[in-house]
Amino acid sequence: MLLYNIVIDVPLDKLFTYKSDTKLTIGTRVLVEFKNKKVVGFIWEHVLLENIDYDILKIKPILSIFNECLSVQSIKLVKFIKKYYHANIGQCVFTVIPSLIRKPRELQINLPKRLHLNNNSDNFLVDITVKSDKKSSQALAQSDIKVENLLPLNGEQANVVNVISSDIKSYKVTILHGITGSGKTEVYLELIRIIIQSGKQVLVLVPEINLTPQLLSRFKKRFPNVRIDILTSNIGNKDRVRSYLMAETGISQIIIGTRMAVFTPFKNLGLIIVDEEHDPSFKQNEGLRYNARDIAVYKAKYFDIPILLGSATPSLETLYNYKLGKYQLLQLLSRGVEGAQLPMVRLIDIKNEQLIEGLSVVVVEAIKDRLKNNELTLVYINRRGYAPIISCYNCGWVGNCKNCSSNMVYHTINSRLKCHHCGYGCTLPIKCPKCSSGYLKSIGQGTQKIEEKLGEIFIDAKILRVDQDTTSSKSAWDNLYNKINNNEVDILVGTQMLTKGHDFHNLTLVVGLNLDTGLYSYDFRATEYLFTQLMQVAGRAGRGGKKGEVLLQTHYKEHELYRFLLNHDYQGFVNYLLTQRKFLQLPPYNFYVLVRASSQKISKTMEFLHKVYDILQQCKINKIEVFEPVVSVIQKIKNRERGQILISCINRSSLHEFLDIVISKINSVKHTNDLLWYLDVDPVDM
Ligand code: ADP
Ligand code: ZN
Ligand code: ZN
Repeated sequence: MLLYNIVIDVPLDKLFTYKSDTKLTIGTRVLVEFKNKKVVGFIWEHVLLENIDYDILKIKPILSIFNECLSVQSIKLVKFIKKYYHANIGQCVFTVIPSLIRKPRELQINLPKRLHLNNNSDNFLVDITVKSDKKSSQALAQSDIKVENLLPLNGEQANVVNVISSDIKSYKVTILHGITGSGKTEVYLELIRIIIQSGKQVLVLVPEINLTPQLLSRFKKRFPNVRIDILTSNIGNKDRVRSYLMAETGISQIIIGTRMAVFTPFKNLGLIIVDEEHDPSFKQNEGLRYNARDIAVYKAKYFDIPILLGSATPSLETLYNYKLGKYQLLQLLSRGVEGAQLPMVRLIDIKNEQLIEGLSVVVVEAIKDRLKNNELTLVYINRRGYAPIISCYNCGWVGNCKNCSSNMVYHTINSRLKCHHCGYGCTLPIKCPKCSSGYLKSIGQGTQKIEEKLGEIFIDAKILRVDQDTTSSKSAWDNLYNKINNNEVDILVGTQMLTKGHDFHNLTLVVGLNLDTGLYSYDFRATEYLFTQLMQVAGRAGRGGKKGEVLLQTHYKEHELYRFLLNHDYQGFVNYLLTQRKFLQLPPYNFYVLVRASSQKISKTMEFLHKVYDILQQCKINKIEVFEPVVSVIQKIKNRERGQILISCINRSSLHEFLDIVISKINSVKHTNDLLWYLDVDPVDM
């Protein structure tokens, strides 16, 4: 009889012992019984009989053994994630694998038949050793890869490609800071060509909303006979496993995906590209709170290969690593299209101005000009829905969500109130629920309201709204691009969805509304985000060679942020922020971890956090700072009342050492069943 410790998907940081008559490899997928249920587990370690200190007759047998086995690289990845995020082992393993593999049955995935896999089975998570074996990499080498639609690189682009391709055999992190429209994607495509022609694979990570059909078709047009696979949360479960296997078996040459794609195992990875590396969507904010950009850097180190972090506005964390000498920085300072200039940015002071439906006279005139010239305008407002608040102006009633401490947003479609935190919705009441008066009024503005008002001012203009509500269908982006290319749009109204990556050549005017909320916020990152978004949205203008203009309406014209923005001075802004952060001892100068807890009652949540706080205080080691428990900024979400403790340290390794010490102690704090807690390492939303 052989004994194994097995990882199963339970919220406990524990392994469970089972027995088997067969000798099993670490990583093997098995079926076991746990609390009267059949669940999937993975063999994690061998156990010696003499180490069992309880009745061995109680040890249950492994029920079945599946074909699949986690590869060595996936096991190492899990171990890294566990160590870095201090999460439960089950959560780590089951986050790394595609969800279909949790199902307690055989996988039925057919890989393309033309492939000659060493293993006879068609359905397996092959156990691949990472040492690249010569034969298979030769088999991959394809000198007959077709490359089409090639643009000759300009001097700056060629220089970047040369520097990176001069050393593609070892780990190195390069920041590619290229202004908007500078042709970063062209640089990626050329580097990808070099890597796949050398027989290796490439992983491209893009933000949540950037993986549009346009990006994909740009890749497919460039490499018509190269195997490209997609890995995102909105492809089906089967497709996800298929892409995963295609990469692991070395069939896939390029994997493009969102944050989850970072967990893909590769047979022979040669390059990782993280596009728009500053984007907050690389951080997962529920379940295991990982940052895909940071795991990508680990992965590059593991494979000993280059990684490229591209952005027009690299994050402070990333630039700080450059200052420390850990990363190299390469720049693209001019636009890719010959003659294309960065747009002229102007601030419109609306302090004492009479606005026309929320728009200043200057903005209205500027839009009129574009309409006359058949040029495209983009109106940016980072709030979807019609209006963020519905209130009664007889008694002051405000429409709040019943599950969350937040306002319900008014959406005109079906006249509904919707909560953007939990999704709860109801029809807009006709009378005030409190005083029964008919004086309900919407306050503030979202994309729908701006769309409506623009329609009233510019009666003949063709207006198109682009936000989460209009782009959820699969064909939405295709339709959008078709309409724009057929000149069926005069004015685009949209949220930050429209700020990134898009290339509309006829767009010459960008208007920014409602920006001021980002200037004075409790979140120390708010100004960084606002600046990034404004640089990105401004970057949509004037990409095609026609001069672009950006008009930003604000009450705070004199704010520092705008001074840098007017000059497109990202470096200057970064230095200004870094000085501030250093003075205030904020990240990236300090490392943060939050202990987050939630339960049905705030008193229970805080009671638990105070016990944790005492433990943290008692165990405190050098350089660690522990702050008193506080109620979270949004106290209630989905009926759970939330609180948190901030731990900070100027030294990452001391912080991890500290967490290693305290975590088992926190685990033993008694609490009510409904209380949940977890650590958020490097949190982004405070
Ligand atoms: P980014 O990814 O930096 O925003 P893109 O790669 O999308 O920029 O390029 C912006 C525009 O410039 C695109 O229309 C692209 O076709 C064009 N472009 C990029 N590089 C070149 C080049 N070397 N020659 C001509 N046009 C280019
Ligand atoms: Zn009322
Ligand atoms: Zn809600």
